[in-house]
Amino acid sequence: MRPEPASAYAVSGAGELLQLLRDETPRTRAELAKLTGLARSTVGARVDALLATGLLAPSGEAASTGGRPPVRFAFNPEARVVVGADIGATHGRVALTDLSGRPVCEIGEPLDITDGPAVVLDWLVATTHRLLEQAGRQPRELIGIGIGVPGPVEHSSGRPMRPPIMPGWDGYDVPAHVRREFDVPVLVDNDVNIMALGEHAMAHPDVEHLLFVKVATGIGAGIISGGRLHRGAVGAAGDLGHVAAPHAPDVLCSCGNVGCLEAVASGPAISKALKEIDVLAASNSDIVDLVRGGNIPAALAVRQAGRTIGEVLATCVSLLNPQVIVIGGSLAQAGESLIAGVREVVYGRSLPLATGVLQIVAATTGVQAGVIGAATMVIQHALTADRVDLAIAQSAS
Ligand SMILES: [Zn+2]
Repeated sequence: MRPEPASAYAVSGAGELLQLLRDETPRTRAELAKLTGLARSTVGARVDALLATGLLAPSGEAASTGGRPPVRFAFNPEARVVVGADIGATHGRVALTDLSGRPVCEIGEPLDITDGPAVVLDWLVATTHRLLEQAGRQPRELIGIGIGVPGPVEHSSGRPMRPPIMPGWDGYDVPAHVRREFDVPVLVDNDVNIMALGEHAMAHPDVEHLLFVKVATGIGAGIISGGRLHRGAVGAAGDLGHVAAPHAPDVLCSCGNVGCLEAVASGPAISKALKEIDVLAASNSDIVDLVRGGNIPAALAVRQAGRTIGEVLATCVSLLNPQVIVIGGSLAQAGESLIAGVREVVYGRSLPLATGVLQIVAATTGVQAGVIGAATMVIQHALTADRVDLAIAQSAS
């Protein structure tokens, strides 16, 4: 039997080799051959193919044992750029990042999601042009655009699905609109999923099982399972806001049900509870200011919301067995009150096997979580072994 020509076989595995190198550790050809168990010639051909794409670059020389020192190669995150956009209800933030998800430059501006998709996406396209210009990069260096929006999204098509606070966006083909200007992959997801990806990439990259919970005007979760974002059948996984909270009063929710978690433990629910005892807090940031200023009724109300969220999360811990629960969103800025309430119930209710390794911590990435997560979503999509091999094949033909 005649073997496959060595060069074709070698080059088709270049994408796989790149996965090894994405930790940004420089390695020589000999080190790569030892690591992969492949022949030196095969490694050499794959390294050459990756060098031609720019994704791999020489990175200094290794110590020599005599003769010419061997060259080390490392993943080159500056080879291309990515756009990550975090579209909120009243504010938009767009970052240009490198292939590690590190922002190179970013622009944040007020916007109104209710202006509809045409106005908002035209702003996104114009902002992308401004960022490319600021960074001195060309549109052809862009490998993709990731967009987070404040509502449910069918991830496979990039279309928002009946988003409650986004009039005019239902079923709108977001990728098609953006691709009229930039012919690159355009991926869309809800804001909580991209925050989960951002927080995972920046603060907990080695954690395989993580639950990110956003507590703000709404409540939602992003699930990282086996190191990957888990979206469910139609992208609705993690929609914790409309889970019935155990022992909750029959408060009417915006979704039409009663006793939803969001109706009893979100920012507006805390404001309402405080108003009943004559403490005024019109917005989430008012609540945070009160708690930080030492207002005891406000701290108690936030802690109680934390306990209520903890009741639902105790069930999640039994189902998912996460290593880390990250609490983010504007109410997480209220310091320890919210997290203390969550911890109290989760550690009290869950079995020791599940809580033995479990940490419950505050988000650390802050306002950048969204843009970094949106860029990470694109990078994970574009740099798979198969897609890198395809790009090499296309550039060679
Ligand atoms: Zn509801």
